Amino acid sequence: MSVSRRRFVADAAGCASGLAAAAGCASYLAAVGRFLPRGAVGRWAMGGVGRHVGGIVAQDPWARIEEVGPGMYAVISTPLGGDYTTVCNGGIIGGSAETLVVEAFMSERGAAWVAGKARELTGRWPGQVVVSHHHADHSAGAAGFAGTGGDAAPALHATQATRNLVVTSPTNEGPLAPWADAVLVPEGAPVTFDLGDRSVTVQPREGHTASDLTVEVDGSEGPVWCGDLVWNAMFPNYVDATPSRLSRSVRALGRLPAAVFVPGHGPLADAEAMARYTAVIDSVEEAARSAMEDGRTAQEAAADYEVPEELGEWTLFNPAYYQRAIEAWMRELAGGSWFGPASRRDGPLPRAM
Ligand SMILES: [Zn+2]
Repeated sequence: MSVSRRRFVADAAGCASGLAAAAGCASYLAAVGRFLPRGAVGRWAMGGVGRHVGGIVAQDPWARIEEVGPGMYAVISTPLGGDYTTVCNGGIIGGSAETLVVEAFMSERGAAWVAGKARELTGRWPGQVVVSHHHADHSAGAAGFAGTGGDAAPALHATQATRNLVVTSPTNEGPLAPWADAVLVPEGAPVTFDLGDRSVTVQPREGHTASDLTVEVDGSEGPVWCGDLVWNAMFPNYVDATPSRLSRSVRALGRLPAAVFVPGHGPLADAEAMARYTAVIDSVEEAARSAMEDGRTAQEAAADYEVPEELGEWTLFNPAYYQRAIEAWMRELAGGSWFGPASRRDGPLPRAM
């Protein structure tokens, strides 16, 4: 019921080389946590940046659970203190007939903790689990939902792309059984889950990875679980991003009439926080475009980049994230279709790509 030593070491090595797909890299986070300003860690831990819609109903060193509507809860992970039990955010959605959990978290222990809280809060062990994308901090704990007291393991839902990436990941040596049996969510159309007195729509999107899912309650007016398409007060990870698609997905999410958005990382977001996040990703695009126009490398552009002050404080989970984000944009812009007149594409291509 824990992240295996081999996976831990592999993730840590991946982080050190800047290639790790997982946003939550245990050893790296420990290092980052040490150099973050004390105030930033405190805000993350206490959720001071976000809003508590209905109060905190559970709090442990690795995460807290906040009520976001009747029978609905957001899991807000707090890994910067050094506990990587859950790492990503997720959720518990209770209906009169069934309980659904969003995300499978970083470790089996984390998934089992969320499932236990689901039973405490909704009266049921989860029957359905939806995983937003393949990164380990959202997927590696899946076997933890099997339970120990005769509870039936929930159905695990993910897209085929997500399932394949989890199963073939070189760092994945956890039990693959839940993934071999995963129920595939079609990538072309939304799927609706009937939980009894409420329904939940699982919407295929893209941009953070090639295949992302969002979970939207009751026709999108309830909370929206955004997966890693949205980060709040934490600068996003572009390691597998297609930035133009990310930008389109974020704008589509921002148009939903929801009052509460659960980001993949960071405290709960409202419409204003969504607008700030959109401005942050736009500022990355702008930095990448002007670097290409000036013939500068992503590394040079990242050294100059700062999140505009008026957008508030955005904790840098990993010092490589600015460069990674600008590189992702430059790679896409160099592909041609996004960069306008050919004359503007004549500059040298950055070596870092
Ligand atoms: Zn993540």
